[in-house]
Amino acid sequence: MLPAIALIIAAAPCGGCGDPSFQYHGPVKWPYEDLLAVCATGDTVPDRSFLTPAGDLWGVAPECADAVGETFEIDWDSFGEEPDSFTDATTPAELVVAGFLAVLGHQDIAVDETTRDGAPEVLLTRFDDLQSKYGFAESQDAGALWYQLLTAEIDQVVYNPEIEAIMSYGAGRVNVGDITDALDPPGSPAQSFTIVEVAGFLIHEAAHGLHGGHIECGEAAGPFLDEDSNCDANAEGAYGVQAWWLYDWTRSNGKWLEEGVCWGSTRALADACMCIIERDDYEACNGWDTIECEGPE
Ligand SMILES: [Zn+2]
Repeated sequence: MLPAIALIIAAAPCGGCGDPSFQYHGPVKWPYEDLLAVCATGDTVPDRSFLTPAGDLWGVAPECADAVGETFEIDWDSFGEEPDSFTDATTPAELVVAGFLAVLGHQDIAVDETTRDGAPEVLLTRFDDLQSKYGFAESQDAGALWYQLLTAEIDQVVYNPEIEAIMSYGAGRVNVGDITDALDPPGSPAQSFTIVEVAGFLIHEAAHGLHGGHIECGEAAGPFLDEDSNCDANAEGAYGVQAWWLYDWTRSNGKWLEEGVCWGSTRALADACMCIIERDDYEACNGWDTIECEGPE
């Protein structure tokens, strides 16, 4: 069953999109396993994307925030913050760090399951490139693969609350808007996007490095979007890749999340799917029956 999707946030997840940049950067400072190790907290790591069943973090140490910052060149000055410890991600920089960790942590889903039939071709093609370049087993956790994708496409993260979009992307740089103001639902008091939503946005922006920009939604806008909002014609775009990660992640992790948190991630998925005009044949936007949101046993 579809969750209620009367959210307007999908209307503007992306502004200055486009400028695809097929480039691989030099060796990142923090190899995948090293990054997970430095972000490990007690017994929890690096399972379950560092998230608790309530959708919070088990805890981020200053050295972990610093390592994530070095991996993606987070411009701490622009955020007016510096790497520090936190559990509740409440500031923009904390949400960005937490979003990256949600993507990079072990998904409990293998690379070959993530790259199966039904995934956007633009994603599968890039994964083939990354696998031949960096090499990892298809049985490896998909977090390793998303790590390679994000580090290949993102080499700067800057806070710019003046942008209208939630985030935007150009030539490896992610501009982060005011992600503490989700307007969700419209008219309600300001609240932050969830960590899973922010993770999806980061995937979306990285995917602009693969695919380029959007088109206007036009007649496909429906009741929740403006006609000049950003859409993609089909799943071969940033929304399709964003939806694929959310779909995979929620199918894998929904079982242990608290029910409301699980449904929250399906709403994030629904928001992304609303911006894909031809989505009837796209598994990520039609596979709701494979998602179980029943809360932890
Ligand atoms: Zn976009």
